[in-house]
Amino acid sequence: MKCRLCGKKPVIYMPHHRLALCREHFDSWFLKHLERTVKEFRMFSKDDGILVAVSGGKDSLALWDALLRLGYRADGFYLDLGIGDYSKRSREAVERFAGERGAKLIIRSLSEELGGIPLLVERTGRESCSVCGSVKRYFFNKVAKDHRYAVVVTGHNLDDEASSLLGNLLSWNLKYLGRKHPVLPQEGGFVRKAKPLCRFTEKETALYCLLRGIDYVEEECPFSEGATSIFYKEILNRIEERSPGTKMRFYLEYVRKVLPLFGQDSKESLGRCRVCGEPSPSEVCTFCSLRERVLNFIGTGRSSTG
Ligand code: SF4
Ligand code: ZN
Ligand code: ZN
Repeated sequence: MKCRLCGKKPVIYMPHHRLALCREHFDSWFLKHLERTVKEFRMFSKDDGILVAVSGGKDSLALWDALLRLGYRADGFYLDLGIGDYSKRSREAVERFAGERGAKLIIRSLSEELGGIPLLVERTGRESCSVCGSVKRYFFNKVAKDHRYAVVVTGHNLDDEASSLLGNLLSWNLKYLGRKHPVLPQEGGFVRKAKPLCRFTEKETALYCLLRGIDYVEEECPFSEGATSIFYKEILNRIEERSPGTKMRFYLEYVRKVLPLFGQDSKESLGRCRVCGEPSPSEVCTFCSLRERVLNFIGTGRSSTG
């Protein structure tokens, strides 16, 4: 097999694109494919202030690096979730990345402001990833608005999007199915959100990092162990092995053909949280009710070692 563009030895073969590329041409393909995705879905322009939510993992750091190389005004935001050594190493990776490039990085610490994820789980009895999801949504939106960014971008890749689509389809979760677009507009107190890596596989973002020398955190969050999303990814990978291109088709054809059928009906009308003023389907938003429960817990004198 040879690089399609120069005939040199390829570093990757992407069966879903029927494309083998050498190191140099994979790098330029990655940037072009990213720019095409941004433009096709009208995610943002070179004039927009972009806040990249970075976790320290391969996807978000690859995204931040590529956006900077393409000349976008992309700053980073890291939310320290207080998940032991995992958060410590992730924070170090993000700080190192930003320091090496002289890029602007905003950091907030959940442990300092409310309590890390393990403490919140202990005090609320809620499932870790559900608490974490609520907290991240709140901070991404709030920080982007406070700092006047036009859009928040996350490193969700094709494998993430296809597996979450499968999960939501299996339970016919119409609320989430109606919002599975790679870009969600600014509305009702929410800033615009976009997923520019939605057409890249995990393998492609990992290779990009490797070739660019990006030192990302390989270990997964300890709470992700046994997650259903990982099981769905495995199933989709098995299907992909038998018929290459299925994963990409499954996701993109959903976005192109099915999502438009939802129309306006799928849009949730939200009020404002009476405590913080952020958009919320109930009187008090999830973040403020978490905060209330943590404070009440302390008020009842039930001390914790967390
Ligand atoms: Fe948060 Fe769950 Fe992801 Fe860990 S695995 S970072 S707890 S959403
Ligand atoms: Zn080549
Ligand atoms: Zn609130």
